[in-house]
Amino acid sequence: MGKIIDGKAVSAAARARMKEEVAALRERGIIPGLAVVIVGDDPASRVYVNNKKKACAELGMYSEEYALPGTTTEEELLALVARLNVKPDIHGILVQLPLPRQIDEKKIIEAIDPNKDVDAFHPQNVGRIMIGDYRFLPCTPAGIMELIASTGEDISGKECVVIGRSNIVGKPMAMLMLHKNATVTICHSRTRDLAQVARRADILIVAIGKAKFVGPEMVKPGAMVIDVGMDRDENGKLCGDVDFAGVEPKAGWITPVPGGVGPMTITMLMRNTITAAGG
Ligand code: NAP
Repeated sequence: MGKIIDGKAVSAAARARMKEEVAALRERGIIPGLAVVIVGDDPASRVYVNNKKKACAELGMYSEEYALPGTTTEEELLALVARLNVKPDIHGILVQLPLPRQIDEKKIIEAIDPNKDVDAFHPQNVGRIMIGDYRFLPCTPAGIMELIASTGEDISGKECVVIGRSNIVGKPMAMLMLHKNATVTICHSRTRDLAQVARRADILIVAIGKAKFVGPEMVKPGAMVIDVGMDRDENGKLCGDVDFAGVEPKAGWITPVPGGVGPMTITMLMRNTITAAGG
């Protein structure tokens, strides 16, 4: 039977520590400030933005929201980013993705001051992750590292298989595991005999975006299974990329969806903003 890695509990413990850090910064006259920019009215993005604002308030941090219409031009958004880059009470800038079609996401990401890039998507921060000399880590992989650490399991020397190679999850995740001395394999849609490769994993990290894709036949007995997916099942219920009911009896450790990786992502955004403010 897999032991559940409780993302809510790990997140709550991390936030309690961060609250103290914020209080210490406030005593020095520094209030970590996050600007969240949302363009258009995508309902999912709206929920994420509200959760980010709530998390800031809970930790005693400052936040500003810029809700721009879906017709905003690239020049207008670049002008806002330029203003936020020099705004002294703002330490972190987050532009909620995806952006409307008329705006080039790459240009916007590259316009954010790397020292305020709390999503760690700027090429400079991505490069820093590659060489293992980073200030910010992308929030989801950083949260997963905390979840793994919470189990007390040693990563060094373990076989780690990451399924998914996106720039925001799969690739940085693989790099962080490599820095911790795992032997890392990255899989994707062209991987041959995925099940056979996945079964090698002591630590299997799944980030593909396909509901219940990973079943027990893809998991080595006793493996740690980290499910990044946020999908909908046939009844429209939130679920992960892993068939939890099928895999849990075989796994050593497993993250549920919801309540696993998800709660850690915003917590790590707060972490990065505190770091940007000098904490
Ligand atoms: P993405 O950019 O769509 O990337 C998906 C990756 O999965 C790609 O590398 C793709 O391979 C691979 N893939 C797709 N089908 C596959 C298959 N049949 N076999 C093997 N690999 C396959 O997705 P993402 O942004 O990384 O997100 C992945 C999931 O994590 C989504 O459900 C997303 O909602 C969730 N997510 C959750 C959080 C959180 O906070 N919990 C944060 C971010 C993302 P190719 O490269 O070959 O196409």
